[in-house]
Amino acid sequence: MPGGVNSPVRAFRSVGRTPFFVEKAKGAYLYDADGNRYLDYVCSWGPGILGHAVPSVVEAVQKACENGLTFGAPTEKEVELAQLIQSCVPSMEMMRLVNSGTEAVMSAVRAARGFTGREKIIKFTGCYHGHSDGLLVKAGSGLLTGSVPDSAGVPAGYAAATLLAEYNDIESVRRLLEENEGQVACIVVEPVAANMGVVPPEEGFLAVLREAADASGALLIFDEVITGFRLGLGGAQGYYGVTPDLSTFGKIVGGGMPLAAYGGRRDVMSCVAPCGAVYQAGTLSGNPIAVTAGTEMLKLLIAHPEIYAQIDQSAARLEEAYRETGLTVNRVGSLLSPFFTREKVRDYQSVMTSDTAAFARYFGWMLEKGIYVAPSQFEAMFVSAAHSAEMIDMTCDMVKEYGKSGMIL
Ligand code: PMP
Repeated sequence: MPGGVNSPVRAFRSVGRTPFFVEKAKGAYLYDADGNRYLDYVCSWGPGILGHAVPSVVEAVQKACENGLTFGAPTEKEVELAQLIQSCVPSMEMMRLVNSGTEAVMSAVRAARGFTGREKIIKFTGCYHGHSDGLLVKAGSGLLTGSVPDSAGVPAGYAAATLLAEYNDIESVRRLLEENEGQVACIVVEPVAANMGVVPPEEGFLAVLREAADASGALLIFDEVITGFRLGLGGAQGYYGVTPDLSTFGKIVGGGMPLAAYGGRRDVMSCVAPCGAVYQAGTLSGNPIAVTAGTEMLKLLIAHPEIYAQIDQSAARLEEAYRETGLTVNRVGSLLSPFFTREKVRDYQSVMTSDTAAFARYFGWMLEKGIYVAPSQFEAMFVSAAHSAEMIDMTCDMVKEYGKSGMIL
């Protein structure tokens, strides 16, 4: 495997280490093959909002396995999951279940292009939407200059159809829409940017995006792969009261199994095959085991909405501890990031003022204390309902101790 891993950040390269190998996980803890236990603030990059190996989810999956692992034919369970998603996120009038966030966003963008008959898309520097070709584009050398692919192997032609705007900078969006009048199919955004560390949308940013999309005839896509069912049952669209045309969900919605969803306006989704001309398919899409895990997870969250206040409070306490150390901290709900900079962090440029070597020192120190945070400055910290008050206390103490070590910046 390249780097010994099946997804790059797992290799711990950016923090100059080799990864631990996981043997098992339970609740808020990960256990590695060398017998170490880590308090886990990665939570599989988001799905583990209730901790690892939630008993009722595991039991439901075990039971479902007895009836067969995949059919490649529709099941009632898929309808039940779709209805649960829709009951929490009413803008999901019609949806498709897929296997990963990458697939969800790629497919939503295709539906937007098919519906509008337009080819260009607007994305934001520093926002991640999976690894499909046209979405692997971040900044060129300057704002609004030619788009360059972020990865080798992406045809320049694909990248050229991706226009780059700056997060929290509505003027950069307006300019692109003007310069490309009648050509932009969609604006795709992480409603809370969480893949350059956490960067919250500034007051009114999402609402103005909505207006700008409407005025130009472009669709607005919220990539809620991280925010969905994390900022609350209604995701970021419920949290901020701004309704997109299409949304994508992943991570939590699959309850820890490979499952994601995209959907939204009925007229747009009616363009997807077999109803319409936009082709999108999947042998394992709506897989019965993944659907079972997702359904059980959503049922738990719907039955226990109080967990959102609990995880927000836990994250707020962590935020306070990081702030005491002098670092910049951004938090929205149970998503947070300490940035190794003293600058205010509100966009990609300010994120880039972070001292990644200082982050790497902090990461290693925390790991040796038994606390696992994401091995990159540019990822979020995820808090789960399995993180008890005592665990949060212990983490806050460690953060403060590190703050006093003189190694912070
Ligand atoms: N969108 C967002 C906002 C994400 O955070 C991610 C993954 N971290 C993706 C899309 C891609 O999801 P996946 O890794 O499941 O393909």
